[in-house]
Amino acid sequence: MATIFSKIAAGEIPCYKVAEDEHYFAFLDINPMAKGHTLVIPKHEVNYMFDLDEEEYAGLWAFARKVAMALEQAVPCKRIGVAVLGMEVPHCHIHLVPLQTEKDMKFGNKVSVPAEEMQAIADAIAAKM
Ligand code: 5GP
Repeated sequence: MATIFSKIAAGEIPCYKVAEDEHYFAFLDINPMAKGHTLVIPKHEVNYMFDLDEEEYAGLWAFARKVAMALEQAVPCKRIGVAVLGMEVPHCHIHLVPLQTEKDMKFGNKVSVPAEEMQAIADAIAAKM
């Protein structure tokens, strides 16, 4: 059965899309811990990051780097924090989180961002890609 993230990448479930190419996809986390919190996934469904083959692993991080560079231009921050957990969704993903302080990178923290602002943030990141 397809993961929720595969369904998002396939356009079957809506998301605030940031970027995609043939192999990778980036979209805003629906429960952001900071404004601009973005998830980057391989379209190929693999649960555990370190089960990706070397080429796909390197490609995912290269794509995430491009997204992070766009994200830090679009969302005011000191730097982009990076994390990989995968405790909730069994489809590997990189969390990119714009940080003002280290406290912004706290799992369990949630900021409330209205839908229009989520869309505006996604559009602003996409425009910097
Ligand atoms: P993890 O698996 O790394 O522990 O966390 C999964 C992340 O995916 C969480 O930050 C959660 O908010 C996010 N998430 C879970 N379901 C959805 C969804 O349907 N859409 C989006 N955009 N994000 C989701």
